[in-house]
Amino acid sequence: MSSGRLTVLAGPTAVGKGSVAAYIREHVPTVWLSVSVTTRAPRPDEVNGVHYHFVDDGAFESMRAAGELLEWAVVHGAAKYGTPKGPVLEALARGRSPLLEIDLDGARQVRASMPEALFVFLEPPNWEELVRRLVGRGTETAAERERRLETARVELAAAQEFDVRIVNDDVERAARELVSLMDSPEPDVRR
Ligand code: 5GP
Repeated sequence: MSSGRLTVLAGPTAVGKGSVAAYIREHVPTVWLSVSVTTRAPRPDEVNGVHYHFVDDGAFESMRAAGELLEWAVVHGAAKYGTPKGPVLEALARGRSPLLEIDLDGARQVRASMPEALFVFLEPPNWEELVRRLVGRGTETAAERERRLETARVELAAAQEFDVRIVNDDVERAARELVSLMDSPEPDVRR
């Protein structure tokens, strides 16, 4: 039986990982995109089972305690997010190549348990662009702005832990680059 390869997409906050994953969900049906569980509330345009499995804290904790999560993290100090392990392993066994779009914490956990996966870091075209995306219209306090920038500095430094970097200068282009990496049998991208 052929076995697929897992790809993990991570990157700093506000770099646009979610937009790249959304593009792939809508335009590239050949990619098997993992559906995470989360304790955060759905946004108006989100569909349970498509964008996330929306669960309460009790359900999340029982999945975690039962060892059903490949990785999990509290993101932005707010909600819990995790990758259900069973569907990923089943997809791999069917020869599919699953894609996980997760935070840096989660990516590090997957590296510990599945080091053979392909780890992709999505990076901003430059620092100024990340700052622009992070602080938006500048409505936050100076302290909050400084906190976000410090987080971004730390997160950007994680790039070197990854096998390959993709610049998110354009969502469609970055998504296509990611898909072609996933399609290549043994990309020559290892450090
Ligand atoms: P959002 O709430 O905007 O959909 O996602 C917030 C953050 O959670 C994003 O950085 C996304 O990568 C991360 N995330 C989504 N699903 C998972 C998951 O299953 N595990 C981890 N560790 N992070 C996740």
